[in-house]
Amino acid sequence: MKYNFPITKNPDPKAKPDPETLRFGTDFTDHMFIMDYEDGKGWHDGRIVPYGPLSLDPAAVCFHYAQEMFEGLKAYKTPAGKIQLFRPDMNAKRTNRTNDRLCIPQIDEELYVDAIKALVKVDADWIPQKEGTSLYIRPFIIADEPFLGVRRSRHYKFIIILSPVGPYYEGGLTPTKIYVEDKYVRATDGGTGEAKCGGNYAASLKAQEEAHEKGYEQILWLDGVERKYVEEIGTSNAFFVIGDEIVTAPLDGTILPGITRDSVIALLRKKGMNIVERRLTIDEVVDAYKKGNFKEMFASGTAAVISPVGELCYKGETMVINGGGIGPIAQELYDTLYGIQTGTIEDDMGWTVEVE
Ligand SMILES: *Cc1c(COP(=O)(O)O)cnc(C)c1O
Repeated sequence: MKYNFPITKNPDPKAKPDPETLRFGTDFTDHMFIMDYEDGKGWHDGRIVPYGPLSLDPAAVCFHYAQEMFEGLKAYKTPAGKIQLFRPDMNAKRTNRTNDRLCIPQIDEELYVDAIKALVKVDADWIPQKEGTSLYIRPFIIADEPFLGVRRSRHYKFIIILSPVGPYYEGGLTPTKIYVEDKYVRATDGGTGEAKCGGNYAASLKAQEEAHEKGYEQILWLDGVERKYVEEIGTSNAFFVIGDEIVTAPLDGTILPGITRDSVIALLRKKGMNIVERRLTIDEVVDAYKKGNFKEMFASGTAAVISPVGELCYKGETMVINGGGIGPIAQELYDTLYGIQTGTIEDDMGWTVEVE
């Protein structure tokens, strides 16, 4: 590692949670990384300190105008006891793209990855090893200058916290029920759809709540202009198997460029499968369903890796996909990706990075 950070050890470490009952995002480790930014001084004072509450001025910009961004990735322990990250360089790059959109200063990408490695190393004992578990890593940046006028902040904090997690969906790889959202939209052309920022999520909660009330786990977002083209599933990217074609929405500004999405595309290409990034209308999906050509649907994202869709509801009509079971392509992608991430399958893609 090129960068080193001072470490203040937590004098009062917590008991580790029971790996059998781990949930997603409820437990946090003993340490966190913090680095400050100030105009004229740049990013400085990166350090590892005991995990705990922050003290912020109530006028801090992030509280009022949502100048905030976040990332998500995971660390795994391999059967040989090595600790590895999955494509952390991609998170660093995406952070800087999000930062650019939100007027947050750029961060040195090597420092970013080194900070993640340093923190994971300090809390390595927190990486759970039971099947389906991992250490979720949450880097984020908040604008913490106390100022109520609307302009970019002149002070920021870059923070990384760690959370030992169980499977995202209880029960592991199980088909989900998805509601096609035709009332609310997530993103429009020129907006912040391709940035990973909290603001996008706040705006999506209402749709998610209403879908839950109707008995669906997640929503499929349509484009914000015509509400015609399929975009994303909740907080993950969407793939449709129609005939012999596997389709996912193109990265044209409204889609979050998922690292799992990119990995899925690369794996499918390598296998010589017909994976296409193109616009796909919900009507084409319904039409394929009626003809018996809509074979599989799944979501991709760091939290759940691959999540098969068993049921899709659009305007009151329910489509049961692949008999409501896990499709063969989703299953194989999950096995391959999860195998590479956890070190049970050899990484011939060069995606894993060891924390030494
Ligand atoms: C994070 C995220 C994804 C998935 O990205 P990964 O890098 O695969 O985890 C997809 N959609 C949205 C809206 C996201 O925030």
